[in-house]
Amino acid sequence: MRTNAQGQRETIHKSQMSPSHLQIHDLSVAYHNGTRLALEGVSFDVPQGMRLAVVGPNGAGKSTLFKAIVGLLPPERGEILIHGTPYGAHKQCAAYVPQRKEVDWSFPVNVQDVVMMGRYGSLSWLKYPSKSDHAIVKRSLEQMNIGALAKRPIGDLSGGQQQRVFLARALAQEPHILLMDEPFTGVDAATQEGMLNLLDKLQTQGMTCIVSTHDMNLAATRFDRALLLNQRIIAYGAPAQVFTTENLLRAFGAHAMLVDGQTLVDECCPPDEHFQIGESPELERLEE
Ligand code: ADP
Ligand code: MG
Repeated sequence: MRTNAQGQRETIHKSQMSPSHLQIHDLSVAYHNGTRLALEGVSFDVPQGMRLAVVGPNGAGKSTLFKAIVGLLPPERGEILIHGTPYGAHKQCAAYVPQRKEVDWSFPVNVQDVVMMGRYGSLSWLKYPSKSDHAIVKRSLEQMNIGALAKRPIGDLSGGQQQRVFLARALAQEPHILLMDEPFTGVDAATQEGMLNLLDKLQTQGMTCIVSTHDMNLAATRFDRALLLNQRIIAYGAPAQVFTTENLLRAFGAHAMLVDGQTLVDECCPPDEHFQIGESPELERLEE
């Protein structure tokens, strides 16, 4: 639904939707009753069918951005438009695959039930899933190659399998925008390649995919656009324009190093825990 120029509410059909699937204007999001800003003044547009990688150090606000887009966190300031209208009108349009560490994997629920959750937004209040909901869940499980796991508790699965379950749940929602928070972290190479191939397929169907990742090589080679974030937007555009030494130093600070003309980013621990060469006991011992 949206409000037209005459103030009347009207239903939006797919053919009338804005070519920019997602528009974010001056978005700020805060924790601790508004006292701690996690995102500040973030603005960018994502056209339909675009594949965007969101990159930034730990604590940059990547997960906060995704949660704000799907309405899990209220903005302190600014707006988020999906198909040109506020998010609330298009709840089903954006599906979110959370970071694995944010999910309680001990929750006693099986794979099929998790994937059915993707259909809940389409069911009217207290309505049971229809035949078509069950068919969509089955198709989503098959698409992710986990049909055989349908009755297994999610806690029993490997990291890669769990990632596929949550992706199947998102697909069951039949979204226009798919948001995946660090889907490649802790999964095997085959699962990663499988997910990238699936993104290729979804892109040909016009789905907009937004993925956060620490893998800059992947972001540069398999994505159309990159967003470099550290509370504010450092750069947004084609990966080659975004991943410059200057931008990476601005985003990663002490975690970025120049080696043979290449910028490397080290995210193993906070900057103050890095020793300076000469301060390392091992190095000093070697020098003796
Ligand atoms: P990223 O996903 O890039 O690692 P997050 O969005 O998780 O970053 O976090 C951004 C900032 O918000 C960090 O400083 C983090 O400590 C803070 N933060 C995240 N979640 C919460 C929360 N639930 N309560 C308070 N602060 C939070
Ligand atoms: Mg995160």
